[in-house]
Amino acid sequence: MHIDEVRLAKFINGDVNEEEFEFILNHLEECKDCRKKYQELLALKAISWKDKEDIKFVKWKRFYLIAASVVIFLTVTLFLSSIILKNKWGNNFLLYIEKNYYPYEKSGVRGEDDDNFRDIMNFYAEGKFDIFVSKMERYLKKKFDVRGAFYLGVVYYVRGKYDCAEKYLKLATENYSVKFYPERFWYLANTYIKEKKFKEAVSILKDLSSFENPYRERAQRLLKSVE
Ligand SMILES: [Zn+2]
Repeated sequence: MHIDEVRLAKFINGDVNEEEFEFILNHLEECKDCRKKYQELLALKAISWKDKEDIKFVKWKRFYLIAASVVIFLTVTLFLSSIILKNKWGNNFLLYIEKNYYPYEKSGVRGEDDDNFRDIMNFYAEGKFDIFVSKMERYLKKKFDVRGAFYLGVVYYVRGKYDCAEKYLKLATENYSVKFYPERFWYLANTYIKEKKFKEAVSILKDLSSFENPYRERAQRLLKSVE
Protein backbone atom coordinates (compact mmCIF):
# COMPACT_ATOMS: atom_id res chain seq x y z
CA MET A 1 0.00 0.00 0.00
CA HIS A 2 1.38 3.40 -1.00
CA ILE A 3 1.36 6.52 1.11
CA ASP A 4 -1.10 9.17 -0.04
CA GLU A 5 -0.23 12.80 -0.51
CA VAL A 6 -1.94 13.97 2.64
CA ARG A 7 0.21 11.71 4.78
CA LEU A 8 3.32 12.68 2.84
CA ALA A 9 2.54 16.37 3.28
CA LYS A 10 2.12 15.87 7.02
CA PHE A 11 5.42 13.98 7.05
CA ILE A 12 7.15 16.85 5.27
CA ASN A 13 5.71 19.33 7.72
CA GLY A 14 6.86 17.25 10.66
CA ASP A 15 3.23 16.83 11.63
CA VAL A 16 3.46 13.09 12.42
CA ASN A 17 4.08 11.02 15.50
CA GLU A 18 7.19 8.86 15.87
CA GLU A 19 5.54 5.66 14.72
CA GLU A 20 4.13 7.28 11.59
CA PHE A 21 7.50 8.95 10.92
CA GLU A 22 9.30 5.59 11.12
CA PHE A 23 6.74 3.94 8.91
CA ILE A 24 6.89 6.56 6.17
CA LEU A 25 10.68 6.78 6.29
CA ASN A 26 10.97 3.02 5.88
CA HIS A 27 8.48 3.00 3.08
CA LEU A 28 10.28 5.84 1.26
CA GLU A 29 13.52 3.90 1.47
CA GLU A 30 11.93 0.97 -0.32
CA CYS A 31 9.33 2.49 -2.62
CA LYS A 32 10.45 4.39 -5.70
CA ASP A 33 6.92 5.61 -6.54
CA CYS A 34 6.34 7.19 -3.17
CA ARG A 35 9.82 8.62 -3.15
CA LYS A 36 9.01 10.36 -6.43
CA LYS A 37 5.74 11.69 -5.04
CA TYR A 38 7.59 12.82 -1.93
CA GLN A 39 10.15 14.71 -3.98
CA GLU A 40 7.46 16.35 -6.07
CA LEU A 41 5.70 17.47 -2.93
CA LEU A 42 8.94 18.78 -1.57
CA ALA A 43 9.50 20.84 -4.69
CA LEU A 44 5.88 21.95 -4.70
CA LYS A 45 6.13 23.16 -1.19
CA ALA A 46 9.34 24.92 -2.09
CA ILE A 47 10.75 23.64 1.07
CA SER A 48 13.82 25.54 2.12
CA TRP A 49 17.25 23.97 2.08
CA LYS A 50 17.44 24.22 5.84
CA ASP A 51 14.35 22.05 6.24
CA LYS A 52 15.83 19.42 3.96
CA GLU A 53 18.91 19.42 6.11
CA ASP A 54 16.69 18.84 9.11
CA ILE A 55 15.10 15.81 7.50
CA LYS A 56 18.52 14.42 6.60
CA PHE A 57 19.65 15.09 10.13
CA VAL A 58 16.68 13.20 11.59
CA LYS A 59 17.44 10.28 9.28
CA TRP A 60 21.06 10.15 10.41
CA LYS A 61 20.02 10.48 14.01
CA ARG A 62 17.82 7.45 13.52
CA PHE A 63 20.71 5.51 12.00
CA TYR A 64 23.01 6.37 14.90
CA LEU A 65 20.34 5.41 17.41
CA ILE A 66 20.01 1.97 15.84
CA ALA A 67 23.79 1.51 15.66
CA ALA A 68 24.16 2.62 19.26
CA SER A 69 21.48 0.26 20.52
CA VAL A 70 23.14 -2.67 18.73
CA VAL A 71 26.44 -1.83 20.41
CA ILE A 72 24.78 -1.47 23.80
CA PHE A 73 22.99 -4.78 23.36
CA LEU A 74 26.23 -6.61 22.50
CA THR A 75 28.10 -5.02 25.39
CA VAL A 76 25.41 -5.92 27.88
CA THR A 77 25.24 -9.49 26.56
CA LEU A 78 29.01 -9.92 26.84
CA PHE A 79 29.03 -8.34 30.28
CA LEU A 80 26.23 -10.58 31.54
CA SER A 81 27.75 -13.78 30.16
CA SER A 82 31.11 -12.94 31.74
CA ILE A 83 29.32 -12.42 35.07
CA ILE A 84 27.53 -15.73 34.70
CA LEU A 85 30.83 -17.50 33.93
CA LYS A 86 32.60 -15.75 36.80
CA ASN A 87 29.88 -16.57 39.30
CA LYS A 88 29.87 -20.16 38.21
CA TRP A 89 33.63 -20.58 37.96
CA GLY A 90 35.27 -17.90 40.06
CA ASN A 91 37.75 -15.44 38.63
CA ASN A 92 40.57 -17.88 38.14
CA PHE A 93 39.11 -20.26 35.66
CA LEU A 94 40.20 -18.18 32.66
CA LEU A 95 43.82 -18.82 33.68
CA TYR A 96 43.50 -22.57 33.38
CA ILE A 97 41.22 -23.03 30.45
CA GLU A 98 42.84 -24.42 27.29
CA LYS A 99 43.77 -21.81 24.66
CA ASN A 100 46.23 -23.72 22.48
CA TYR A 101 46.30 -26.30 19.75
CA TYR A 102 47.42 -29.77 20.73
CA PRO A 103 50.92 -30.34 19.30
CA TYR A 104 51.44 -32.68 16.38
CA GLU A 105 54.85 -33.80 15.16
CA LYS A 106 55.11 -33.66 11.40
CA SER A 107 55.62 -37.18 10.18
CA GLY A 108 58.08 -37.94 7.42
CA VAL A 109 57.73 -41.68 7.65
CA ARG A 110 55.89 -43.22 4.75
CA GLY A 111 53.79 -46.25 5.43
CA GLU A 112 53.24 -45.36 9.08
CA ASP A 113 49.73 -44.20 8.21
CA ASP A 114 48.10 -44.14 4.87
CA ASP A 115 49.82 -41.40 2.89
CA ASN A 116 46.68 -39.36 2.44
CA PHE A 117 46.07 -39.20 6.20
CA ARG A 118 49.68 -38.33 6.88
CA ASP A 119 49.61 -35.52 4.30
CA ILE A 120 46.47 -34.05 5.84
CA MET A 121 48.01 -34.15 9.32
CA ASN A 122 51.05 -32.32 7.97
CA PHE A 123 48.78 -29.35 7.17
CA TYR A 124 47.87 -29.32 10.86
CA ALA A 125 51.54 -29.52 11.86
CA GLU A 126 52.29 -26.55 9.60
CA GLY A 127 49.44 -24.50 11.03
CA LYS A 128 47.47 -24.51 7.76
CA PHE A 129 44.23 -25.09 9.60
CA ASP A 130 41.78 -24.04 6.87
CA ILE A 131 43.11 -26.65 4.47
CA PHE A 132 43.38 -29.17 7.29
CA VAL A 133 39.72 -28.74 8.27
CA SER A 134 38.31 -29.13 4.76
CA LYS A 135 40.50 -32.11 3.88
CA MET A 136 40.01 -33.90 7.20
CA GLU A 137 36.23 -33.39 7.09
CA ARG A 138 36.21 -35.07 3.69
CA TYR A 139 38.61 -37.83 4.77
CA LEU A 140 36.55 -38.77 7.82
CA LYS A 141 33.42 -39.11 5.72
CA LYS A 142 35.10 -41.88 3.74
CA LYS A 143 37.09 -43.51 6.50
CA PHE A 144 36.73 -42.83 10.22
CA ASP A 145 39.98 -42.21 12.08
CA VAL A 146 39.86 -41.42 15.78
CA ARG A 147 43.02 -39.28 15.73
CA GLY A 148 41.67 -37.30 12.79
CA ALA A 149 38.48 -36.67 14.74
CA PHE A 150 40.50 -35.52 17.76
CA TYR A 151 42.64 -33.01 15.86
CA LEU A 152 39.60 -31.72 13.98
CA GLY A 153 37.85 -31.24 17.33
CA VAL A 154 40.90 -29.35 18.64
CA VAL A 155 40.87 -26.94 15.69
CA TYR A 156 37.16 -26.29 16.09
CA TYR A 157 37.63 -25.75 19.82
CA VAL A 158 40.45 -23.21 19.44
CA ARG A 159 38.48 -21.44 16.71
CA GLY A 160 35.41 -21.18 18.95
CA LYS A 161 33.12 -23.47 16.95
CA TYR A 162 32.12 -25.41 20.01
CA ASP A 163 29.23 -27.42 18.58
CA CYS A 164 31.54 -28.89 15.93
CA ALA A 165 34.29 -29.37 18.51
CA GLU A 166 31.90 -31.29 20.76
CA LYS A 167 30.80 -33.53 17.90
CA TYR A 168 34.34 -34.60 16.94
CA LEU A 169 35.77 -34.76 20.45
CA LYS A 170 32.89 -36.99 21.49
CA LEU A 171 33.74 -39.30 18.59
CA ALA A 172 37.38 -39.24 19.72
CA THR A 173 36.55 -40.17 23.32
CA GLU A 174 33.66 -42.59 23.24
CA ASN A 175 34.86 -46.14 23.77
CA TYR A 176 38.24 -44.80 24.92
CA SER A 177 39.68 -44.58 28.41
CA VAL A 178 40.56 -41.24 29.98
CA LYS A 179 43.64 -42.98 31.44
CA PHE A 180 45.15 -43.62 28.02
CA TYR A 181 43.98 -40.50 26.18
CA PRO A 182 43.68 -37.69 28.77
CA GLU A 183 44.26 -35.01 26.10
CA ARG A 184 41.09 -35.97 24.23
CA PHE A 185 39.00 -35.73 27.41
CA TRP A 186 40.73 -32.50 28.42
CA TYR A 187 39.70 -30.76 25.20
CA LEU A 188 36.17 -32.14 25.48
CA ALA A 189 35.88 -30.85 29.08
CA ASN A 190 37.06 -27.40 27.95
CA THR A 191 34.54 -27.45 25.12
CA TYR A 192 31.76 -28.19 27.62
CA ILE A 193 32.90 -25.28 29.78
CA LYS A 194 32.75 -22.94 26.80
CA GLU A 195 29.29 -24.28 26.02
CA LYS A 196 28.30 -23.76 29.67
CA LYS A 197 27.50 -27.47 29.96
CA PHE A 198 28.99 -27.47 33.43
CA LYS A 199 27.66 -30.82 34.60
CA GLU A 200 29.35 -32.66 31.73
CA ALA A 201 32.56 -30.66 32.20
CA VAL A 202 32.74 -31.39 35.94
CA SER A 203 32.36 -35.11 35.43
CA ILE A 204 35.36 -35.24 33.05
CA LEU A 205 37.44 -32.85 35.18
CA LYS A 206 36.91 -35.12 38.20
CA ASP A 207 38.26 -38.06 36.18
CA LEU A 208 41.26 -36.02 35.01
CA SER A 209 41.95 -34.93 38.61
CA SER A 210 42.05 -38.46 39.91
CA PHE A 211 45.26 -39.82 38.35
CA GLU A 212 48.69 -38.68 37.16
CA ASN A 213 48.51 -36.97 33.76
CA PRO A 214 49.64 -33.70 32.15
CA TYR A 215 46.24 -32.01 32.77
CA ARG A 216 45.74 -33.07 36.37
CA GLU A 217 46.68 -29.81 38.04
CA ARG A 218 44.73 -27.59 35.67
CA ALA A 219 41.72 -29.89 35.97
CA GLN A 220 41.93 -29.66 39.78
CA ARG A 221 42.16 -25.87 39.65
CA LEU A 222 39.24 -25.64 37.25
CA LEU A 223 37.23 -27.84 39.58
CA LYS A 224 38.17 -25.66 42.56
CA SER A 225 36.85 -22.56 40.84
CA VAL A 226 33.46 -24.25 40.69
CA GLU A 227 33.26 -24.67 44.43
ZN1 LIG B 1 4.79 3.37 -2.01
